[in-house]
Amino acid sequence: MQRRSLLKGAMAMPLAYSLPAIARQVRGHEVAKLEVFRLPVNRRGDWLVLRLHTSDGLVGHGDASHSGNDAATVAALKQLLSLLQGESIFEVERFRAAARKSPGSDSAAAVVAASALEHCLWDLAGQALGVPTHVLFGEALRPSVDLYANINRSADPRTPAGFAAMAEKAVTAGFSAIKLAPFDAMPANLDRRTAVQPLIDQGVACAAAVRQAIGPHHKLLIDAHSRFTRSEGEALAKRLAPLDLFWLEEVTPAEPIEDLVAINRSTVISTAGGESVRYVSGFYDYIRSGAVDIAMPDIKACGGLLELKKIAAIAEGAGMRVSPHGPASPVGGVAAAHVAATLPNFDILEHAFGEVPWRADLTVPPEPIQGGKLLLSTRSGLGISLNEGLLASRATAV
Ligand SMILES: [Mg+2]
Repeated sequence: MQRRSLLKGAMAMPLAYSLPAIARQVRGHEVAKLEVFRLPVNRRGDWLVLRLHTSDGLVGHGDASHSGNDAATVAALKQLLSLLQGESIFEVERFRAAARKSPGSDSAAAVVAASALEHCLWDLAGQALGVPTHVLFGEALRPSVDLYANINRSADPRTPAGFAAMAEKAVTAGFSAIKLAPFDAMPANLDRRTAVQPLIDQGVACAAAVRQAIGPHHKLLIDAHSRFTRSEGEALAKRLAPLDLFWLEEVTPAEPIEDLVAINRSTVISTAGGESVRYVSGFYDYIRSGAVDIAMPDIKACGGLLELKKIAAIAEGAGMRVSPHGPASPVGGVAAAHVAATLPNFDILEHAFGEVPWRADLTVPPEPIQGGKLLLSTRSGLGISLNEGLLASRATAV
């Protein structure tokens, strides 16, 4: 079938076509080559961005940042590429299934690598069919997605005044929702509880300073980064209640899940979490247990764009909102936005604010953020390419 007539038919009867059916009819578009670029960002980690090339000259983009082990991510990318080379870009489910069966697929690095390659496939599929990627996920319900500014990676010093100053910058830049994780100085090991009270007091003071800086009409989100025991967490929620939080995130670790459930039941504050939970299978128990009110799958860590769509569907069934987690490069932000825009139960998307001044220029066109919203592209695929000049000056091919 000619591409034009296929597209015409596909637009008229979208449910009649699965991606593998399209793959059989649209010839070409086989995966040929992968490029991986590392861009130094800050003490919290680098960005790893991908370009996946097809035999006929299309270029798809993905984000493989923040697995915690970039060297292992790069090794996994090279291993997983063998599952794609010479294969159709449309066979996304086949790739996902093969990646999950490949050696070492349980590591965080392998999941991030497979997810990033999957982002590339959806970018390529949109380009090959001449539609924005969000069309492949059911069409956008909104022309832009609301963002919150995570100032935790840029606030310096990490004092009430330091957090307040960065929050004011984010509000000036147009953001009306601000997140910080003011308890990062607390020990991650929950068995070491000596001298934590001054650190809790300092964190609460940082949260209060940001609330005062942004005023009562902007949203304040606090991430506890799992630094609390259940009893400490219940006490924390009571102390934070007067700050009128939009949400309180991950007070205790994801395991045992009963601690999150207990805190969620005990507080009037909305709770959020799930950034490290993988796949529909992981979120099924997380959502069913009532661990949080708002699910936070990350398109790099949960399995990819299609996994986000599926996780959002089970959350929708449970009456829950979805707010994709995502300190990410602009590539990851744009990719997440394409799916987020299609979700009936989407709430707000994360944006790491103020990490580097050249952030928006990584992509062409520059990252489309205006007034605290990420504007959805109407170009085919994800609608971005990488800025060659910026790659030449800042990136290392790995
Ligand atoms: Mg978090």
